[in-house]
Amino acid sequence: MASFSTSTAASHYPNLSPKLLEILGPHLPKSSPEFDPSTLSNYYNYKVHDSTLNWEVSFQDKKLKGSVIFDIESLHDSEELILDSSYLSISNVLIDSKKIPFELKPRQNPLGSPFVISYPSTKSQRFKLEIEYETTDNCTALQWLDPAQTDGGKLPYLFSQCEPIHARSMFPCFDTPAVKSTFNYNIKSTLNTLVSGLLVSKDTTSDAKHTVYKYKQPVPIPSYLVSIASGDIVGASIGPRSTVYSEPSFIDACQYEFKEDTENFIKTAESLVFKYEWKDYDVLILPQSMPFGGMEHPNCTFATPTLIAGDRENVDVIAHELAHSWSGNLITNCSFEHFWLNEGWTVYLERRILGVLHGEKHRHFSAIIGWTDLDNSIKSMGETASRFSTLVQDLKDGCDPDDSFSTVPYEKGFNMLFAIETKLGGTKEFDPFIKFYFDKFKYGSLDSYQFLDALYGFYSDKTDLLDEIDWQTWLYTPGMPPKPDFDTTLVDQCYKLAEKWVSIAKSNPEKLSESFDKKDIAEFGSSQNGVFLDTLLTYQDQDGFKWNSENGKLAISVMSEKYSKYATSHNAEVVFRWFRLLLTGEVKESYPKLADWLGTVGRMKFVRPSYVLLNKVDRELALKTFKKYEFGYHPICRAMVKKDLGI
Ligand SMILES: [Zn+2]
Repeated sequence: MASFSTSTAASHYPNLSPKLLEILGPHLPKSSPEFDPSTLSNYYNYKVHDSTLNWEVSFQDKKLKGSVIFDIESLHDSEELILDSSYLSISNVLIDSKKIPFELKPRQNPLGSPFVISYPSTKSQRFKLEIEYETTDNCTALQWLDPAQTDGGKLPYLFSQCEPIHARSMFPCFDTPAVKSTFNYNIKSTLNTLVSGLLVSKDTTSDAKHTVYKYKQPVPIPSYLVSIASGDIVGASIGPRSTVYSEPSFIDACQYEFKEDTENFIKTAESLVFKYEWKDYDVLILPQSMPFGGMEHPNCTFATPTLIAGDRENVDVIAHELAHSWSGNLITNCSFEHFWLNEGWTVYLERRILGVLHGEKHRHFSAIIGWTDLDNSIKSMGETASRFSTLVQDLKDGCDPDDSFSTVPYEKGFNMLFAIETKLGGTKEFDPFIKFYFDKFKYGSLDSYQFLDALYGFYSDKTDLLDEIDWQTWLYTPGMPPKPDFDTTLVDQCYKLAEKWVSIAKSNPEKLSESFDKKDIAEFGSSQNGVFLDTLLTYQDQDGFKWNSENGKLAISVMSEKYSKYATSHNAEVVFRWFRLLLTGEVKESYPKLADWLGTVGRMKFVRPSYVLLNKVDRELALKTFKKYEFGYHPICRAMVKKDLGI
């Protein structure tokens, strides 16, 4: 590496103020956007114009078999082409139909094996690179579910999750968000197949055993947004440009959950940014073993079935995944060091959508919940907080982007954008920049410095105002950022009700029954119920109060009667928190009920803390329950719970 020179680096960012340049100076990269440290490829030498994936889905061998074809142009003279790969079995490399020698170099964990193709090329040379290969049992992107792990129980199921750096275990590629291309998919499968793209055709093979699905993604996307799902999947309309997909037994419930809000979300997002460019917006609800909340695959968000609550209360996850259609998918971080550009912006847009549809109070309420999450998340990091709680991350030592994953890019990112909005005078002043920014960088990949340069350029008459923002703290200081002024109206109701319960339980327990009524929570949405139940728990061990004391248990018993809707709720966000209170109060009748519930959910957010709780009060039951359901969980979830239980 040549020595750093501020003058050349700064020339990429003509709009930054001298004050900001001084702060950014030591961090400014020499190239713009900054190079991605989480790839072993030499992507910066090439441009990929188009990519084609030809796959056969083999449920029998649990493998994808086939080839990938890239239409590539050399940007510089280059001796060899290096792609990312991880646990792939590669059989042939062809360039313009001629066989070419290649070498898979030794693995460099966690980034995989550099896949070196000996092909000298000159600047502007364009060629077709075809690689024939199969995935292997070690593939980290694909989950192959046995029929027993699905809701239907009869057919197998496949789904992928490539973000951040698992695409390289599904197909050899420049596995960096800095490289984007259009995609074509030709997929042969025995079961219905969805991908991140638009369906072109669906034809049965001559032996009538398979179907060939042709899809096209005309908008350039990075490798981590490539996806596949194949299984007993059916669809139902949830709007003029939206379909929800799931296993057949679940489809009516999914349709009910989303048909009211999806188109409103899209229209609202369009009014905040600009037209939705991807044509269709669909949602695939995966089997219960989906370990995460959602993943923003273009055209087809993958989501957890815990969103299906029967009360349309968890749909904000859909607002989030939809918002990614602009932030993340149209404009992408150039590396996971700048992941906040994807997630912070998406949380910001998600909350703006909620604000438009339900009022500013709701935007602020959601932000307060996020603030608490951020605080908890940074506290739980322990020593690693000094490294992983900064907004701009440093992954240059080849560290696994999965290790740096946390609430920080989401909530610190949101709060910084909210601070900028506030500093500029509010949404009216900030809104024109949203449209400008997304238009300026669409189809591209960028770093935090390009974002700041665009901001300072757009508000060139407000440099002094922007300079008042403490950029050093926001971008590079670990820990909590400066706290904004939130509107606390909605959250205060939850705090007050919780305080009333605890204070009466402590001093006048005989008055509990007459002091509360089901009307107290009649107007609460699931987030307010969540905050109320979370707040109750914060009183445990405060000033000698315990939920497992005589008074605490009495309060829980009165609450079960007055707020009976908690016990009968189908909303996982509520059910989980209700169980948490019952187990903290050592209400023994609830233990087997929680054990049964653990056979119906697979999202790690609920499964892991539930086992920890159960283990605390009844280890035998926790172990028995895990033994019964462990193979219904996703392998990542199974491994984490094992760690949590110490087995
Ligand atoms: Zn997201």
